[in-house]
Amino acid sequence: MRKVTILGAGLVGSVLSILLRKRGYEVDIYERRADLRTAAIGAGRSINLAMSTRGWKALELAGLRAEIEKIAIPMPGRFLHQEDGTSAFQAYGKNGEAIYSVSRGELNKKLMDLAEQNGVRIHFNQACTKVDIPQNTIELKAEDGSTQSIKCDLLFGADGAFSALRTHMSYQDRTDFQQFYINSGYKELCIPPDAAGNFQMEKNALHIWPRHNYMMIGLPNNDGSFTCTLFFPFEGSPSFDSVKTKEEVMAFFKEQFPDAVPLMPTLLEDYTQNPVSSLITTKIYPWSHKDQSCLIGDAAHAIVPFYGQGMNAGFEDCSVLDELMEQYGTDWATILPEFQKSRKPNADAVAELALKNFIEMRDKVADPKFLERKKIEKDLGVRYAGVFNSVYEMVSFSHTPYAYAMGAMEAQDWLLQEIMQQGDYFSNIETAAFKTTLDELLAAYAARVKEL
Ligand SMILES: Cc1cc2nc3c(=O)[nH]c(=O)nc-3n(C[C@H](O)[C@H](O)[C@H](O)COP(=O)(O)OP(=O)(O)OC[C@H]3O[C@@H](n4cnc5c(N)ncnc54)[C@H](O)[C@@H]3O)c2cc1C
Repeated sequence: MRKVTILGAGLVGSVLSILLRKRGYEVDIYERRADLRTAAIGAGRSINLAMSTRGWKALELAGLRAEIEKIAIPMPGRFLHQEDGTSAFQAYGKNGEAIYSVSRGELNKKLMDLAEQNGVRIHFNQACTKVDIPQNTIELKAEDGSTQSIKCDLLFGADGAFSALRTHMSYQDRTDFQQFYINSGYKELCIPPDAAGNFQMEKNALHIWPRHNYMMIGLPNNDGSFTCTLFFPFEGSPSFDSVKTKEEVMAFFKEQFPDAVPLMPTLLEDYTQNPVSSLITTKIYPWSHKDQSCLIGDAAHAIVPFYGQGMNAGFEDCSVLDELMEQYGTDWATILPEFQKSRKPNADAVAELALKNFIEMRDKVADPKFLERKKIEKDLGVRYAGVFNSVYEMVSFSHTPYAYAMGAMEAQDWLLQEIMQQGDYFSNIETAAFKTTLDELLAAYAARVKEL
């Protein structure tokens, strides 16, 4: 049996290590950071992630689903805080389906515990600084500056958006590599619990304050707080560049997020002390070299966070790899090419979906025409169940390939435009003539998606 080396004990590297151990591989992980479970990293700050169907599947395979479900908070919809002071709840699915807010730190710690219980060796404070791709050797640098070189048998790069393995793979002949930043960054802020320890806003929702070219979101934590993230342009007005001083921050928040300000006692401290981080998309191909090394998770496909799918996509990589191990046994010369072939179109599609969802979340959810479209989509999903499913449901509540969801989105853009040109949907829907037109349009839509 081959020995496996994984770079990175983050979310994806940890899940991958468990799945490989379950199939009998010896696994060593080299992780740049100190052990999260003992080091005081990010103490006091709670960062969360939205987990959906694809993520749950990999956790189930790893054997951690039940435990994480206990600490996950269901969010069956968006709670919109509109500019005019009104608010509205929009359900994500037609049957009450939810995405789940999960603490990133707790999830990572539990995954590392389970990996070690399964016999995975995790070596902390070991940063990979160089990879010789043809020789399959890695160079590691410890905290004290000492270095070592290791010859790997089978190597996975689960070392995130700035992966060392990916950097060195990108130097290989006939390797395509692309990266781009969007012109917004993000800053984390906080809505703490009230004096009695209770949530200050609706607990079971993903809160959004859409403000056209920027937005703030808030996800609930188990301690009664919300982690808020302000996605904001780097430059222009308003932007991180233009809102800097305490006076500017207070004036801006009071004007734009008046309902949130009284709930944010540490706003000034958070805003001035927390960093502004950038948002990158990366694409590379191929993901693997011979039967020797392969990228997975963000290392293969870093995406912007607006569909809440980065970790979910990385976890789906793990489930797909597990299926290929089931199918091809230990034939890695087949598994790695099959893996990248099946995942690459889906990784590209979710990258696009995530970029498009930024526009939807920050801009369109406040647009009456878009809200009308969402209502029609929901009605179509009920009337034409099985023929019409919303793209959000496909992405978040199913295992439908992302590439199919992307194609379906284009077909739905066409369909909804046609339907909305026929007059007011909800006034006409019970008339025979409208129903006939609708049947025809739905048949044309079904034919389009059948081609995907
Ligand atoms: C603001 C924000 C919000 C997000 N929200 C969501 C969400 O709601 N839902 C969702 O599904 N996804 C979300 N994501 C995306 C998600 O965080 C990533 O997709 C996910 O963390 C990827 O996991 P990973 O294990 O591939 O990489 P990472 O989590 O980045 O882990 C990589 C690991 O490798 C280690 N490492 C890095 N370099 C080296 C090296 N040279 N040598 C050794 N070790 C190394 C790192 O220390 C780290 O432990 C969000 C991302 C951001 C930025």
